[in-house]
Amino acid sequence: MTANTAANAPAHKKYPNLFSPLDLGFTQLKNRALMGSMHTGLEEVEGGFERLAAYFAERAHGGVGMMITGGISPNEEGSMGSEMSTPEHAEGHRQVTDAVHAVDPDIKICMQILHAGPLAHTPTMVGPSAVPSRLSRLIPNELDEAGVQKQINDHVNCTKMAKLAGYDGVEIIGSAGYLLSTFLVEKTNQREDQWGGSYENRMRFPLEIMRRCRAEVGENFILIFRIAAMDMLQGGMSWDEVVLLAKEMEKAGATIISTHFTWHESAVPTIATMVPRAAFSGVTGRLNKELNIPTITSNRINMPDVAEQVLADGDADLVSMARPMLADAELVKKAFEGREDEINTCIGCNQACLDHGFEGKEISCLVNPRALNETFLNYEPSTAPKKIAVVGAGPAGLAYATVAAERGHCVTLYDAGSEIGGQFNLAKQVPGKEEFYETLRYYSRMLEVHHVDVRLNTKVCAEDLKNGGYDHVVVATGITPRTPEVEGIDHPKVVSYVDVIRGNVAVGKKVAVMGAGGIGFDVSELIMHKGVSAAMDKEVFAREWGIDFTNHPRGGVTGVVPQVEAADRQVFLLQRKSTPVGRGLGKTTGWTHRMSLAKRGVQMMNGIEYNRVDDQGLHISIEGVPQILDVDTVIVCAGQVPKRALYDELADSSIATSLVGGAYEASELDAKAAIKQASELAAAV
Ligand code: FAD
Ligand code: NAP
Ligand code: SF4
Repeated sequence: MTANTAANAPAHKKYPNLFSPLDLGFTQLKNRALMGSMHTGLEEVEGGFERLAAYFAERAHGGVGMMITGGISPNEEGSMGSEMSTPEHAEGHRQVTDAVHAVDPDIKICMQILHAGPLAHTPTMVGPSAVPSRLSRLIPNELDEAGVQKQINDHVNCTKMAKLAGYDGVEIIGSAGYLLSTFLVEKTNQREDQWGGSYENRMRFPLEIMRRCRAEVGENFILIFRIAAMDMLQGGMSWDEVVLLAKEMEKAGATIISTHFTWHESAVPTIATMVPRAAFSGVTGRLNKELNIPTITSNRINMPDVAEQVLADGDADLVSMARPMLADAELVKKAFEGREDEINTCIGCNQACLDHGFEGKEISCLVNPRALNETFLNYEPSTAPKKIAVVGAGPAGLAYATVAAERGHCVTLYDAGSEIGGQFNLAKQVPGKEEFYETLRYYSRMLEVHHVDVRLNTKVCAEDLKNGGYDHVVVATGITPRTPEVEGIDHPKVVSYVDVIRGNVAVGKKVAVMGAGGIGFDVSELIMHKGVSAAMDKEVFAREWGIDFTNHPRGGVTGVVPQVEAADRQVFLLQRKSTPVGRGLGKTTGWTHRMSLAKRGVQMMNGIEYNRVDDQGLHISIEGVPQILDVDTVIVCAGQVPKRALYDELADSSIATSLVGGAYEASELDAKAAIKQASELAAAV
């Protein structure tokens, strides 16, 4: 279906497509912005529904047209934590649906039904065949005929309970390696009965679920089917199979087709920050042309202009922005009011959302620690405004200054550098991390909106602060890179990552990177990089990860050989620990960084003892056996130590002083921790 602007409504000047309603026949969506499904884990926590209600209500106030909840299982065997199968379950969800409809009865909220199949967190998990997922490696119990019928009945019952709970519809997930998708693909469906074999038989299970759910709830209830439009599996679904399934879903009663672009076990990044914006929407566009019902597109659509373009191109009727609305509940409202420069943009890091989800922790957002904490982390006006100096305009200082100023405090923000951002000014230069510019744009605007007095190029000392008449000083001076105690560390071939990223030093052809944390990986990526960043160019991205958007072979990837351009260099990425290199990186993105470096020929080595650096290179030992890495540059990426001299110098003063970010704790410190800690302190001052 092609996007249609409602004839009578005056079109929004800048985003005419995004702000046009969508007629679903029995009901209307007020605009084309959708908050897609994200698992929060809160359904299982005491008081979780109250927090979920506040979270969804805040997004409803933010102007979104429709929202989808995190995945809820129809039964115990499909569960990843939460289940909807009884009226008692429905009762809990009532808090959420009532809260959303109280904001605006026209805003729709649908519940996602997620039967995890072989990815369920239970020994009773089931699948069409006893084939383990590459992720969980656990073997599901093969369903017999009665078992198949039970799964269908449970989906129907779950839909009925969702309606009872006040939802406007459900989204049934048929992708990602969860139960329904495992019926569709030969690798996981090896049955020879009516549920396996031919594609017609393999489609039968999801289609039967759709048909029976529609029959149960009648016409006036939204039923969305989430299809793997490109599953990224070698030997996955062909394009013809995708189209046939979508068309049959339309006949079976689906109101909307939502496109998804992965199985979790596929080896292609689809939502990480290195993925270009709206990279996959063209695939939705092709499917859109085949259908009479609306389609939803998704993945790395994080700003309103991107959403508008996708709609204007006719690639979809609705645009899903899930993480972007975690990052900023008011994204849609700000776009409507022409305040795009105030949007706190999702940078695709996954650090506080998906990584937490996969680790079984509560999710939130790196750039917005209020996300899912709306009931207790609030930036209320101060009853006793103070005069506050914040020293350091890195993420910690920026978060503190903007939150304190928003609350009415009078804030002066100092930085020794010529621009705000601290280490984010290094991070943004790493290929694949271009989104970090957005966070700096956001903070820059917030400093203006909240009237923070910003003093750049100003290195502050304790005397300045003591004489400044401040009620409160916040030391956010960050870190100093650690210099390891290794013989020859002052040799001319040894350089710091700061100088390498800033381009202050020449890097040779043979390089050892000492330290394989996040920064060691980023620096290796930077020095091995050649040409345009894949994050900025869909064709480069497709080439590097072996995707064929044009011909759509099975899964989009079958038989496509990745082609990576790399700098003419030999790089050794080293760590002392004997654990696999990169193990400490983010759960959902670490593998992409490891693969990216491996494709560029970086040699990752663990269990290293550093002996010395001299004209010959870097002398190391592995399991006591000495060897020389004949390198011309050694880049030190060996972590950091807090830079807190200023705080110590203020110890004898009577000014209340706080220490935040890297200056407080450098080990394990990242921007997620820095922004969260600073925001919480500023909310309480
Ligand atoms: P900083 O960012 O170090 O800021 C401190 C500021 O204080 C600086 O601007 C400095 O000029 C100023 N300052 C110091 N002394 C004075 C003084 N006396 N007077 C005035 N100003 C002073 N984290 C993540 O979570 N995810 C990532 O993907 C990520 N990638 C990174 C990539 C790279 C290449 C780098 C270098 C870091 C990355 N980080 C990442 C880490 C993240 O940037 C830091 O954790 C974060 O910047 C720490 O914030 P901070 O405000 O405490 O300190
Ligand atoms: P880090 O993650 O703590 O890594 C430091 C590295 O240095 C480790 O490999 C450590 O491993 C090594 N090391 C520590 N002490 C050493 C010593 N004395 N001599 C030699 N090697 C030593 O820190 P970072 O890489 O500097 O990153 C700083 C922060 O930014 C981290 O919190 C990180 O999470 C964050 N960051 C995140 C990302 C991301 O993509 N999420 C990217 C960049 C940075 P061994 O001790 O085993 O040698
Ligand atoms: Fe986006 Fe990162 Fe926030 Fe997740 S944690 S919503 S990826 S900015």
